[in-house]
Amino acid sequence: MSKRTRPKPRPEPVLGPEHGPTFAEVIERMALVDKTSGLTRELIADINTAAAEHARVTLAVVSCYTCDAPKACCSLLTSCYLYEAVPIAARLIREGRDTPELRAQLKQRAHAMETTPKKDYKLPCLFLGERELCTIYEDRPSVCGSHLVTSPASDCSDHTTVKITKLAHPSQTTVPPQVDEVFRQEVGLRPLGESYRGALPRMVLLCLEAWHRRDYAAFLAERVLPASHRFEWAVK
Ligand code: SF4
Ligand code: SF4
Repeated sequence: MSKRTRPKPRPEPVLGPEHGPTFAEVIERMALVDKTSGLTRELIADINTAAAEHARVTLAVVSCYTCDAPKACCSLLTSCYLYEAVPIAARLIREGRDTPELRAQLKQRAHAMETTPKKDYKLPCLFLGERELCTIYEDRPSVCGSHLVTSPASDCSDHTTVKITKLAHPSQTTVPPQVDEVFRQEVGLRPLGESYRGALPRMVLLCLEAWHRRDYAAFLAERVLPASHRFEWAVK
C-alpha cells in the first residue's frame, strides 16, 4: 500500500496595503480618537496641576489663567505629534470643517511654519476663532495646553522679548514621544528613527489626507519625515 502523503498547508496569501483597513478604520477599531485625546488631556491636566502648585509655593501668578489679552501664544510656531492630530482631524470631519478651503489654508500655513525662522514667525493659528478662542480647545495639542507663563500677558506679544517667563515641566518633553511610539506601533506605522511630529497645520493636513487611505503607512512615512526636518530647521 502506498503511503499517503499529507497535503502541504497552503501558504496564506500575502495581502498588500490595498486590501487592508484605512487609517480611519484602524483608528475607529482601536478607539484611538478618545484614547489619544484622553492622553493629551491627562498630560495637560498634570502639567497645569504642577504649575498651580509651583505658583502656590513661589507666590507666582500664572498669567494664562486670567489672560484676556490677544493670544500672542497662538501666533507662534506650534508643534504637534501625529497622534495629537488624530482627534483634531476627527473633530474637523465630524463638524463638517474638513473642506478644500481649509486644506488649502493648512497647506499654506504649514509651508509658512516650515520656512520661517522662529523669531520671524507671527501668524495667528488657523484654529484661533472669534474673541481669541481656540476652536479646537478640547482637542488642542499638548504644547498649547502646557504653554504657561508667569510674566505679564502684555509681554507675550513681543516674541523677541527676554522678559517672558515660561513654566517648564519635564513631562512636556518625556511623555509625548512615548505615546507617539505606542501609537505608531498600534496603527502599524513605519519606524522613522524619530517621532511622527511636525508643524501643527502639517500634521493635521497629513492626518486628513491619510484618513481614507489604505496605504496610509507608506503615505505618512514618506511625508512626515521631510516635513518634520523642515520644521526643526524653523524652530532652531
Ligand atoms: S502665553 Fe501669554 S498671551 Fe498666551 S494665554 Fe498666556 S499670558 Fe495670555
Ligand atoms: S490650536 Fe488653539 S490653543 Fe493651539 S495655537 Fe491654535 S488656537 Fe491656539
